[in-house]
Amino acid sequence: QPMSAAALRDLWTRFWTAKAHTQVTSSSLIPFHPSAPMFTNAGMIQFVPYFLGEVPVPYSPPRVTSVQRCVRAGGKHNDLDAIGRSLRHLSFFEMLGNFSFGDYSKQDAILWAWEFVTEVVGIDSDHLWVTVHESDDEAADIWSTKVGLPSERIQRLDKDNFWEMGDIGPCGPCTELFYDFGPDFGPPGGPANPESEQRYVEFWNLVFMEQFRDGDGELSPLPKKHVDTGAGLERLAALLQGSPSLFACDTLSALLRAAEDVTDRRLGEDAQADVALRVIADHARTMTFLIADGVVPSNDGRGYVLRRIIRRSIRFAHLLGVTSAFTTSMADAVFETMGAAYPELMRQHDLVESVLRREETQFRKTLRAGLDMLDAELANLADAEEALPGKVAFTLHDTFGFPLDVTVEIVSERGRSVDLDEFERLMDEQRARGRRSRVRAAADDPATFQQALAYGPTDFVGRETYETRAHVI
Ligand code: ATP
Ligand code: MG
Ligand code: MG
Ligand code: MG
Repeated sequence: QPMSAAALRDLWTRFWTAKAHTQVTSSSLIPFHPSAPMFTNAGMIQFVPYFLGEVPVPYSPPRVTSVQRCVRAGGKHNDLDAIGRSLRHLSFFEMLGNFSFGDYSKQDAILWAWEFVTEVVGIDSDHLWVTVHESDDEAADIWSTKVGLPSERIQRLDKDNFWEMGDIGPCGPCTELFYDFGPDFGPPGGPANPESEQRYVEFWNLVFMEQFRDGDGELSPLPKKHVDTGAGLERLAALLQGSPSLFACDTLSALLRAAEDVTDRRLGEDAQADVALRVIADHARTMTFLIADGVVPSNDGRGYVLRRIIRRSIRFAHLLGVTSAFTTSMADAVFETMGAAYPELMRQHDLVESVLRREETQFRKTLRAGLDMLDAELANLADAEEALPGKVAFTLHDTFGFPLDVTVEIVSERGRSVDLDEFERLMDEQRARGRRSRVRAAADDPATFQQALAYGPTDFVGRETYETRAHVI
């Protein structure tokens, strides 16, 4: 009997509340703190003010546990391109977390993690490896002397063992737990061997949140030493079944079945179709939860990430022969599998359906024609090496509503690339034209004309720039 996501959430919450942690519900995918990334990408995001010491911690003792919905589709932690191809990455996943705000020690955090994995869920300790930061003798010592893990299975890494929320924000050294799937999945050497990442799968990260990185990249110590851990719920559920694929987790397998139903295809018959089925299953949760949390498809920022996710999913379904609207059926499957754990999702049912229906109708109007044009242009390319002209990608974007990454993906499936420099140049020209016409429009109104002359027209500068500028701590 494989462990369900529901059972795992429950075991997790009970384990930590028994250790005096307050249970806190998942926060929105749209973070509220000014230093936060575009989307909530980890359990710690809603607790940033406590890590930074900006507000008093309202929990006594100051420790909490959560099951946090996360999206990694923009900013520093962006897994979007891997989705469908990587069996251990999802664009939406649930992160199990326990947190200490200046309360318990590194040793407590490590010993309790060990207790949970070996005693509560019963992972065979012979399969476990850990990594620690190269500077962290204390953590290495706890793993070897307190836990008793053989020293060959404790490895030291640099970048991978220093966790950062974004370019700016709280950060610190970390220690990570890995599960060894065995020699059928890759060469030996542990997680430090980059060739064996399919074999040793990371599933839990314990971060010792002790520093802050500012806008100049400088590190300074935080007022207190915190613990921030995150374990991937789907990774734990899958490895408990001996599967390296997160689609073995019941929440994902139900969505995969829904994707098989709408496409009338089966996983395992064809490699390209498998990618499409996994994308459709994965993206269904991301789009449903993003809309429920208030994101609307648009041409910039979060809304554009959502639009790309919806359109990418529609294009993959189209590839498998789906010619009519299907995204609301996928959303229904998401309500069914995730609704009990996230009651706030159910309250947005009608909003999700109407946003998806509108976006899908709009894109389907131009999808067929855009794909035909792209096919014709690809057939026109003379030699096998030639890149698709940026002009074509631009027209697809501008007239047919194809996000650039969708075009790049289709083109790369044919073994070609896109002339991105030309694409960017055309986008820049278009933005400049837009600026000029806004100044001209403003000129009709004397007051706004003065303003336009004085300040220039406003431009969307992008989230990254905004983040670096807006952050003052
Ligand atoms: P990876 O190296 O596998 O990309 P990560 O180091 O980026 O993972 P962390 O930022 O340390 O991940 O996040 C903590 C945990 O969240 C990971 O150990 C993993 O279990 C889970 N996790 C991270 N990214 C994903 C994802 N895209 N899909 C599913 N689970 C994930
Ligand atoms: Mg990652
Ligand atoms: Mg990692
Ligand atoms: Mg990690």
